[in-house]
Amino acid sequence: MRIYSAKDVDAKALKGATIAILGYGSQGRAHALNLKDSGYHVVVGLRRGGDSWAKAKKDGLRVAEPAEAVKGAALVALLTPDLSQPGVYAEIKGNLAKGATLLFAHGFNVHFRQIKPRKDLDVVLIAPKGPGDLVRRQYQQGRGVPCLVAVAQNATGKAKAKALAYAHGIGGTRGGVLETTFEEETVTDLFGEQVVLCGGATELVVKGFETLVEAGYKPEAAYYECLHELKLIVDLLHEGGLAKMHQFISETAKYGDLTRGPRIVTRSTKAEMKKILKEIQSGKFARQWIRENKTGKKKYQKLLNQDLKHPIEKVGRALRARMPWLEQGR
Ligand code: NAD
Ligand code: MG
Repeated sequence: MRIYSAKDVDAKALKGATIAILGYGSQGRAHALNLKDSGYHVVVGLRRGGDSWAKAKKDGLRVAEPAEAVKGAALVALLTPDLSQPGVYAEIKGNLAKGATLLFAHGFNVHFRQIKPRKDLDVVLIAPKGPGDLVRRQYQQGRGVPCLVAVAQNATGKAKAKALAYAHGIGGTRGGVLETTFEEETVTDLFGEQVVLCGGATELVVKGFETLVEAGYKPEAAYYECLHELKLIVDLLHEGGLAKMHQFISETAKYGDLTRGPRIVTRSTKAEMKKILKEIQSGKFARQWIRENKTGKKKYQKLLNQDLKHPIEKVGRALRARMPWLEQGR
């Protein structure tokens, strides 16, 4: 296993290069601004007239349409939403310089063969393990979100050196850049967000909230207990693992954790996790999501609306309004 840091970066790999960042959302904005501050020529590729266009201009960046932006770029980062990327690649393909580097922040399209890059290109992955606003904020604080690096095509023999220089430019070498493959990044990223980080965590919060409210307890008390406090626990886990959390919670909380936790996440929960992992590995999840996207995202919209209409959202908005500092730094 290798974790790269600043000393592993070849400063010449992207020296004087123009880097095209396609997309100016969560990751795109953070990468573009960090790379600019690290001394690179950055051009942002966007659809003309969209909201992001005005935002990137206002941030002082050069903006052009994707097919124009990639002309003369030594490295092109594809940071539009995953399912839009095959279309964007089709637009830019003819204008990519020979031997240019195509960079992804998630392996989905290469691993599931939605994009088959030209053979003369280097194809690399730099996947920050955190949302874009943190990639930007930590860079400004002299810190860095850790990243994963992988190489899918090494046409020039310098693919990894360029990927590491890019990771360095966005601040990733400060936290460390872990060597992986497109397959491992894609599978573990999808698994993490479905089972633990997004799907698992929110479902646990909402079901806990419902249980207390249905038993007659105040929604406000249930909100504090099941949602608000989660961050405090997660911060302890993030800083020092299970040991640090155990150090800071009460003896009573610890006894409850050890005896009740396994009754909530049971053997059958783990069996379901394994099923979800298989659906990701076999491509079943990817096919389903691509089909849903092609047919107008009706089911996705319906589920999303249901989520946003949940009573926990209403009580949460009211309570958060009393704590305006929660939104600071965004
Ligand atoms: P996003 O949804 O926040 O931003 C999308 C941007 O792309 C917007 O600026 C939008 O205007 C632009 N865009 C959309 N369609 C376009 C098109 N057809 N042509 C040109 N521009 C277009 O995206 P994101 O969440 O930053 O995701 C970008 C990539 O980063 C994805 O591969 C994602 O998997 C990966 N990633 C995201 C995160 C995260 O925290 N959001 C973390 C790690 C990796
Ligand atoms: Mg992720």
